[in-house]
Amino acid sequence: MKIRDIFKTGKTVFSFEIFPPKRNGSIDTVYSTLDELTDLHPDFISVTYGAGGSLPGCSTREIVSIIKEKYHTESIAHLTCVNSTKEDIDRIIKEFEQYGIENVLALRGDINPDIPPKEDFKHASELITYMKERSSLCFSGACYPEGHLESATLDEDIENLKRKVDAGAEHLISQLFFDNDCFYRFLEKVRAAGINVPIEAGIMPCVNAKQIQRMVGLCGASLPHKFTKMFARFENNPEAMRDAGIAYANEQIIDLVSSGVDGIHLYTMNNPYVARKISEGVSSVIRI
Ligand code: FAD
Repeated sequence: MKIRDIFKTGKTVFSFEIFPPKRNGSIDTVYSTLDELTDLHPDFISVTYGAGGSLPGCSTREIVSIIKEKYHTESIAHLTCVNSTKEDIDRIIKEFEQYGIENVLALRGDINPDIPPKEDFKHASELITYMKERSSLCFSGACYPEGHLESATLDEDIENLKRKVDAGAEHLISQLFFDNDCFYRFLEKVRAAGINVPIEAGIMPCVNAKQIQRMVGLCGASLPHKFTKMFARFENNPEAMRDAGIAYANEQIIDLVSSGVDGIHLYTMNNPYVARKISEGVSSVIRI
């Protein structure tokens, strides 16, 4: 099923993101994570794509195919283009077809200062244009409620986002944020700019102090006072941090659903316990 069709039901879409195991990981962890996550009946699961390679049999494409074929759950393959040539992308399109993949989150990827980017694709919009001419895939894109770090202003980033949607992105997933007001301000600007595709809010439960510090460092999300207060109080107590982080994410989700958000995309960090707690906490509000 194409992701665009999932949004046609009019219900709040609820989706998960996972990442493939690292080279020294185990294939069993993929199955045990998926056993638990698919039991929560998300509308789809997206699988990230990293440059570092993956365990044999556990590439993004293979996991996306397993989610669809074995677990009968819709899935999206993330794909970055910063280090790819047109020939690489031609090969990947063929692989997607072989694996029965229908949905792609088309990304530029982060530029590694030590690896000069390839010249073929400078932005995600160029990847979408190229792949759309050569396949019948359904494309999603990333968006940034507080602006992408490389953009001088949020308005400039939204102009570029419009290019991505005009190129063929039919659904957007947002970067994580902890202040819903930032997301509402962003939505207002995006809709005013004529971007009308469904936008899912990316929610990352703050259950691990180190992980969150790293993520916030990478994406520059602003932290409201109630978040920093919670963090300061519980960061050295993993259990309390986990419970407080789950409650904070649930509060964010309930507020977003009350405001009519198109969907919630949960960054599960491959943690089924947290995904279950959150799904159970919001199950009645999310399905209406
Ligand atoms: P783009 O849309 O190309 O935008 C990048 C920058 O260029 C922005 O500042 C934008 O304003 C600007 N820009 C865009 N188009 C133009 C234009 N035509 N002219 C001038 N400027 C332009 N990374 C991974 O490596 N693997 C993943 O699996 C992954 N998954 C992600 C999932 C989500 C939901 C999100 C939000 C991010 C994800 N990322 C992932 C991170 C992403 O690769 C980085 O944020 C990257 O720096 C930007 O990718 P993009 O697709 O948003 O780029």
